[in-house]
Amino acid sequence: MANTQDMTDPNSNGVPDMAKSLCKDLSITLAKFPRVALGHLPTPLEPMDRLSEELGGPRLWVKRDDCTGLSSGGNKTRKLEFLMADALQQGADTIITQGATQSNHARQTAAAAAKLGLACHILLEDRTGSDDPSYILNGNVLLDRLHGASVSKRGGGADMNAEMEALAETLLKEGKRPYIIPGGGSNPIGALGYVNCARELAEQAIHMGLKIDALVHATGSSGTQAGLVAGLAAIQSDIHLLGIGVRAPQEKQESMVHDLALRTASYMGTGTEIPRDSVRANCDYVGPGYGLATDGMIAALKLLAQTEGLLFDPVYSGKGLDGLIDQIRKGYFDGMENVVFLHTGGSAALFGYPDSFGLPGYLT
Ligand SMILES: *Cc1c(COP(=O)(O)O)cnc(C)c1O
Repeated sequence: MANTQDMTDPNSNGVPDMAKSLCKDLSITLAKFPRVALGHLPTPLEPMDRLSEELGGPRLWVKRDDCTGLSSGGNKTRKLEFLMADALQQGADTIITQGATQSNHARQTAAAAAKLGLACHILLEDRTGSDDPSYILNGNVLLDRLHGASVSKRGGGADMNAEMEALAETLLKEGKRPYIIPGGGSNPIGALGYVNCARELAEQAIHMGLKIDALVHATGSSGTQAGLVAGLAAIQSDIHLLGIGVRAPQEKQESMVHDLALRTASYMGTGTEIPRDSVRANCDYVGPGYGLATDGMIAALKLLAQTEGLLFDPVYSGKGLDGLIDQIRKGYFDGMENVVFLHTGGSAALFGYPDSFGLPGYLT
């Protein structure tokens, strides 16, 4: 645990002072963008000591973005603080977004729209082909509908952006003022939420006297990682950032993240450079495909539930953890002392996958 020595040592070479002032500059930059408060921020940064002992590698920490507060939490809430503010500024009265059937983004968007008094239309793409009633109607889908969103489905492989545009046309003709949020809220506006998270985490670490060596998280539509990449670059952090892919192959995932990080930095207007090699994704844990269970995900999810009392999700954070655990065992983090896993949320999706965990369907 941090002691006074840890707190003062880095101070002597001025690193925290410089880091503090870079964090402050970044808050000033971010304050120029419209934002509505939706999340419980800052989210906690907690040690995972039972897991660290079990794995015997670096000390593991969890950044609790599953505790952002809105409709059971998750990473989309940070993005929505900026996206919803932009929608309001443009005079929108209706939000349109899309995602996979068990989309956490859709659920958090439906909740944010409800909180702000906006109508919400959600298009769900059937990416898995599952006809399990729990998958189709429970978990996030149940919550989307409880929040009052109008939810409809589209076939796997549909052009979801075109579908959203067509819906917007129809709503415009009805006199509505629709605002389209891309899948995952992943554009430069949404990514600002994770630029802000990079700053928040760096400030927390300074405060705790903690030197974070690496930050690991699940990466999908890329806004989370792109925001973190741009934010860490803006504060000149040397934290090693690693995304664990849940869908695309590595080359595609990394170039999506890099492209969005560049666009985000340019949107911020700070002239921050984003080196291509600051974008790292390991896409070896996707398994048979997006949203399909893997043995590693199930083992990781159970291990965390049973060592730390934490819930993760089958599609994103569970596969991210599988990657973290396997890479610890393979020595990827050797020589590092503190590794943080960013918990991006998603446990509501567990109820869409009740049969994946090998638990008998009865009690004795
Ligand atoms: C959306 C999501 C992610 C991935 O974030 P992106 O910004 O889409 O890359 C990770 N974990 C959970 C639980 C999510 O819902």
